[in-house]
Amino acid sequence: MKLNTLPVKIEDVAKKTGLTVSPFDFEDDISGVLVIQDGKGVIGYNQSESRVRRRFTIAHELGHFVLHRELSSMFMDKGFSAIFRSANSGLSEETQILEREANTFAAYILMPDRLLKEAIDNIDFDLGSEDEIKNLAKIFDVSSQAMYYRILNSGLLKF
Ligand SMILES: [Zn+2]
Repeated sequence: MKLNTLPVKIEDVAKKTGLTVSPFDFEDDISGVLVIQDGKGVIGYNQSESRVRRRFTIAHELGHFVLHRELSSMFMDKGFSAIFRSANSGLSEETQILEREANTFAAYILMPDRLLKEAIDNIDFDLGSEDEIKNLAKIFDVSSQAMYYRILNSGLLKF
């Protein structure tokens, strides 16, 4: 599978992985679910959320499918606004690890290393510049927050 064009077509990637992807009218703060039955996965995402949020949700649930499908047949995710917060109170330590893994998977599939490096090398990137973060976020179709943390944790910046 080629990941050469931006933004990454995450819904197509999930479908090519064999998953069904459907919008849902979730109540309260559910961002997405992954249900696995007979080895087949269905991703449901909250259609009322913003596009970058929906994209992240699909990538995150795809991460659960790729990494964790032997562990559970059902994943339900709420409130990704807390995605990069280290203390997810209320979640068991094991759940926190799985969530972190799915978030890392999502960050890397939406913002692949090579493409991110190219994008950063093309400009004289400054992590302190909100405009540059916003611009990169737009190119990758992710939230500015997701882009900020992805770059911060990338090891791509030279200090
Ligand atoms: Zn999750």
